[in-house]
Amino acid sequence: MERRKFFKAVGLMTAAAYISPKVFGNEQGTVKTSSLEGVPPAEFPPLPFAYNALEPHIDARTMEIHYDKHHRAYYTNFMNAVKGTPLEGKPLSEIFAGMSKQTDAVRNNGGGYYNHLFFWKNLGTGSAGPSGELSAAITKTFGSFDKFKETFTTAAKTRFGSGWAWLYLGTDKNLAVASSPNQDNMLMDTSPVKGTPLLALDVWEHAYYLKYQNKRPDYIDAFWNVVNWEEVGRRYQAAVKG
Ligand code: MN
Repeated sequence: MERRKFFKAVGLMTAAAYISPKVFGNEQGTVKTSSLEGVPPAEFPPLPFAYNALEPHIDARTMEIHYDKHHRAYYTNFMNAVKGTPLEGKPLSEIFAGMSKQTDAVRNNGGGYYNHLFFWKNLGTGSAGPSGELSAAITKTFGSFDKFKETFTTAAKTRFGSGWAWLYLGTDKNLAVASSPNQDNMLMDTSPVKGTPLLALDVWEHAYYLKYQNKRPDYIDAFWNVVNWEEVGRRYQAAVKG
């Protein structure tokens, strides 16, 4: 039953991506979308802010290497892995939903491409904190915003090795926190938890080592200063309606 529901949810998300207002036709007349879970663009997408935009919390040199080396490599390797296969031109949502049938190259690089794209969009400055329905849902699920931060921070600190911490909307429409190994996420059918990601934190050493070295907890503390809560709120709105 759970599995059935998950596939239904993914199907709806794919449909939503195709009817998004940003849909446009390319020269071949096929439909593409700029949605994060849609068909990957032909060119590596730009970072939505300057390398130094998140200083001093995330330093410019780390951002440059993270975006221009790590993220670009995931994108390039993913595009090469799907080229000439039935996965070419498919939305990421569809590829993730069938990930158990794909190669490690598709899983690691597809996840790496998407997770970073997602991460950049939930970073920014000048955001006071969650508001409106997201704020109410956080309080309802975790007790308070501080309790939520504590839960998320623990998930990020205790992820052994490389991976990600997430706030997501479960298939039961409740908020939850989880961490994932490597470049996995909860859109993949290989994930033990399923749902719609809302907020991501990269806890690979390459995300913080230049500035924070082995002090992952200091990097996680700094992260709370650069969360774009408006974007997280928009994702929550879209996810509860989906
Ligand atoms: Mn990374």
